[in-house]
Amino acid sequence: MTDAVDGRVALVTGASRGLGRSMAIHLASAGHSVVVNYASNQSAADEVVEKIQSDGGQALAVKADVSDPEQVDQLFAAAEEAFGPVGILVNNAGITRDGLLLRMSVEDFDTVIATNLRSAFLCTKAALRGMVRARWGRVINIASVAGISGNVGQANYSASKAGLIGFTKSVAKEVGSRGITANVVAPGFIATDLTDQLSDEVKEAAVAAITMGRFGAADEVAPMVTFLASDAASYITGQVIAVDGGVAL
Ligand code: NAP
Repeated sequence: MTDAVDGRVALVTGASRGLGRSMAIHLASAGHSVVVNYASNQSAADEVVEKIQSDGGQALAVKADVSDPEQVDQLFAAAEEAFGPVGILVNNAGITRDGLLLRMSVEDFDTVIATNLRSAFLCTKAALRGMVRARWGRVINIASVAGISGNVGQANYSASKAGLIGFTKSVAKEVGSRGITANVVAPGFIATDLTDQLSDEVKEAAVAAITMGRFGAADEVAPMVTFLASDAASYITGQVIAVDGGVAL
């Protein structure tokens, strides 16, 4: 299913921990050179790079807040200098600032939209020029089942993830004729630092809604990203693929 000899340049935002970490490791083992972006946790990002290198792959950690246009420019400049133009972009960085709408601050709304959605706009724009030139590219945006179904306490997060879906479909239509695909992976509940923050009560209610009866693992999402990044996925674009153990049935 993977393309071990492809050797493209992959950039994964928010790859120091959780889902992004697993995606970076899987993409590296498929033969790609991987840029491991992170916001602040340098030791975690370095650990991902060391793991990839010790498995024989190529990786570089680059700190950048992907909601910031200047830092995104610097991130892509660093990626290009190290490995060449980015062919595979995974917009994975994301945060939650949960709260019921009536108590949600403007700041919590704006911060989530900037980190989860504006980041994808900035990074995709930065990556597309090289992809158009190469007439090959893969944009993979990590949304959430919350962007499909909504969720109590997550008006900001759900809006950002639904926004990513519309954004992705537009990108797919704009650049499909250039050999570039754009797709969404929508995970359900996956065990990471993000879901660790949930109360036991919320976790139990979540498990009750999951057909598989358990949270997923990051390593159960990453193979879908690696597949969408491969040549084998050349005719799949504008799609939203849930990897959720059956939440969004
Ligand atoms: P996580 O464990 O909290 O990791 C978040 C990652 O994003 C970290 O690498 C963090 O870097 C990075 N990050 C945060 N803000 C950033 C910024 N402004 N610029 C660059 N990097 C930033 O989260 P996760 O659970 O792996 O989630 C990853 C993605 O999957 C998110 O988009 C999330 O919404 C989505 N998702 C997760 C679940 C789930 O159940 N876990 C379900 C659906 C969707 P630092 O380490 O430097 O802080």
